[in-house]
Amino acid sequence: IPRKRFGQNFLTDQAVLYDIIRAIDPQPDDTMVEIGPGLAAMTSLLLESLKHLHVVELDRDLVARLRKNFAPQRLTVHEGDALKFDFASIVPAADRKLRVVGNLPYNISSPLLFHLTEIAPQVQDQHFMLQKEVVERMVAEPGSKTYGRLSVMLQWRYHMDLLFVVPPTAFDPPPKVDSAIVRMIPIAQPLACDAGKLEQVVTKAFSQRRKVIRNCVAGMFTENDLIDAGVDPQLRPEAVPLEQFVGLANRLGL
Ligand code: SAM
Repeated sequence: IPRKRFGQNFLTDQAVLYDIIRAIDPQPDDTMVEIGPGLAAMTSLLLESLKHLHVVELDRDLVARLRKNFAPQRLTVHEGDALKFDFASIVPAADRKLRVVGNLPYNISSPLLFHLTEIAPQVQDQHFMLQKEVVERMVAEPGSKTYGRLSVMLQWRYHMDLLFVVPPTAFDPPPKVDSAIVRMIPIAQPLACDAGKLEQVVTKAFSQRRKVIRNCVAGMFTENDLIDAGVDPQLRPEAVPLEQFVGLANRLGL
């Protein structure tokens, strides 16, 4: 019986499952971790290509099931909360990086994406099923209505693509919303900036979307600070590109 509190919507549509596996394109020697394997619909298909896979699952009953159904040589089951899991504890072979996949529990998707930014330099790529609306915010460009904190903070560190949309009917039970598959590839050299400062600036800037940026960040920056960072003080925050937010963050506390 699926548990609502764990965000359990199990993927049952075989065609969609194969589309996801094809997008991930698992290779035998990859070091991969799947978040929230659930009943192992993706897990089994991934293991058709991979020699070995790590999974992180919170639900104790599902953990027991996974341990019973898969040999430990093939599947390492980490029981626990992905939000607290130390992904750096999975060390890929020399000259390789970690691959992260999952049909994520939607109630924890933002904090989980932020938790994973901590290991971005050790990651090759991430493929996730998320709420379509969240993926749209992740990939939104300046000027679009959905461009905001999530867009700026994640676009600073990742190239991201919405690969395809998945309807509620692909799941059991069906979620209330459309889903989408996103591919995230860490940027080798993100613009130099302190993550905490960028977060502070972006959070403040988007706290009042309908005001112009000068008013949103009043108290944090003067109009001259904005001009020095190349920001037009009259713009709405959703029109300010990433580089300019980085410029502002690098001015914070000077
Ligand atoms: N991957 C399976 C599928 O595609 O059918 C299940 C996906 S279901 C949307 C989310 C899974 O994540 C469930 O198995 C749930 O128990 C697990 N989960 C929920 N919260 C979690 C957390 N904080 N850490 C790890 N796993 C979690």
